[in-house]
Amino acid sequence: MKQAAKLLNVAYNTFKKYAKLYEVFDPSKSNVGISRGISGGVKQPELSNIFAGNQPTYSTTKLLHRCFREGYLKEECSNCGEERYRASDMSKPLMLDYMDDDSTNKELINLRVLCFNCFFIMKGKRLKVKQPRNIREFQKATANLFSSE
Ligand SMILES: [Zn+2]
Repeated sequence: MKQAAKLLNVAYNTFKKYAKLYEVFDPSKSNVGISRGISGGVKQPELSNIFAGNQPTYSTTKLLHRCFREGYLKEECSNCGEERYRASDMSKPLMLDYMDDDSTNKELINLRVLCFNCFFIMKGKRLKVKQPRNIREFQKATANLFSSE
């Protein structure tokens, strides 16, 4: 997990929060995923390749951070302009939204940045998050992200 954070060029705690949000955080799986050490790491596909539709299953989180780093997307909510850093970990509560709700459509024109607030307000209903369990977990994750203890 630390290697994954390094790979994404984000603070470990930030990574952990997002990983938990997307339910992929699992430190016990230490022998799978990204190899430890400095053996070259995982080869990243070019962003242009992803935009061209050649990597439909590419990680949304990675894509967002790479779009920020490589200047394709602005680090602010495209709806309300939210761009403040959270004091707790100096990261921004932003996420990547697929305008057509199709997460395999990674064309740049289909991507926009939303804060968690706007995402929930604009997409919550359309994405039909039905199961109470999902909602509870989403609220918990959101509360964690915004808490600044
Ligand atoms: Zn917003």
